[in-house]
Amino acid sequence: KDEEPTYPAELERVYKVTRKTLGVGSFAVVKECIHRTTHQAFALKIILKKAIAGKEHMLDSELDILKQVRHPHIVSMHGLYESKDAVYIVTDLAGGGELFQQLLKKGNYTEKDAANLIRQMLEGLSYLHKCDIVHRDMKPENLLFQTTDENASLMITDFGLSKILKNHDDVLTTACGTPGYVAPEVLLQTGYGKPVDLWSVGVITFTLLSGYTPFWGDDQASLFESIIAGKYEFDEDYWSDISDPAKDLINKLLTFEPSKRITADEALLHPWITNDQVAGPRTT
Ligand code: ADP
Ligand code: MG
Repeated sequence: KDEEPTYPAELERVYKVTRKTLGVGSFAVVKECIHRTTHQAFALKIILKKAIAGKEHMLDSELDILKQVRHPHIVSMHGLYESKDAVYIVTDLAGGGELFQQLLKKGNYTEKDAANLIRQMLEGLSYLHKCDIVHRDMKPENLLFQTTDENASLMITDFGLSKILKNHDDVLTTACGTPGYVAPEVLLQTGYGKPVDLWSVGVITFTLLSGYTPFWGDDQASLFESIIAGKYEFDEDYWSDISDPAKDLINKLLTFEPSKRITADEALLHPWITNDQVAGPRTT
């Protein structure tokens, strides 16, 4: 007989969990659920306690953060339930899928479209950083479109690796994050503050415009070497039609020294982000 998974009674009272799986992450399975009285759809993130054994502190930090954040470009939390084996978090539904999937489909973005996406990321990050929250895992898999609409809003999710800073200039020292998007100071274990998120936005910007990542290697060790070297190129074959302001912002985001790296608020004022004329469509 087909076994229906059981959910906490309190959760079942408020929401009907559907059979639709929205995604699978490193720690979680995400299902769709429907509010029984409003019929509004939400996402239900199910984290097996087994899967986070010994890492409960990461879960706690995720929940603390999710409970506090309310911003149009951040996936917010609406409910929290627990069973013996799992934790259940009800969040905004971002039904438009991952930026990662859309990037794979498109290959790359026009400057205008990329600037619009990066602006939304920066607005979300600016808010998080004002709350002294460092995301620490900014990458296209953790950026979801709110709907399948062409002009859907982009939302930041997956705070599993982020942490509330106790002090403004606290340097976080846990070595985690995702290879490819991770900042050099994380690999060098010399810093883990807000600038790490801007580095990741730099890698994302580079990738959206060109369709490939600025740092690479045949294995993890050579990828790390590439990031620690901090060198990347705007290969003429791919970058000759891309504007100078775009490259200038990327250079300011991929600044090796975290203290000299552009902040989210500064980046929001950069001409490539503010000026639609500059961020015009590509000619090829
Ligand atoms: P993990 O922390 O385990 O990496 P995520 O929060 O990244 O889990 O969720 C895993 C995947 O589930 C995401 O990459 C995405 O495809 C999907 N997902 C997560 N949150 C939502 C949401 N709010 N709405 C729709 N899909 C989601
Ligand atoms: Mg994830």
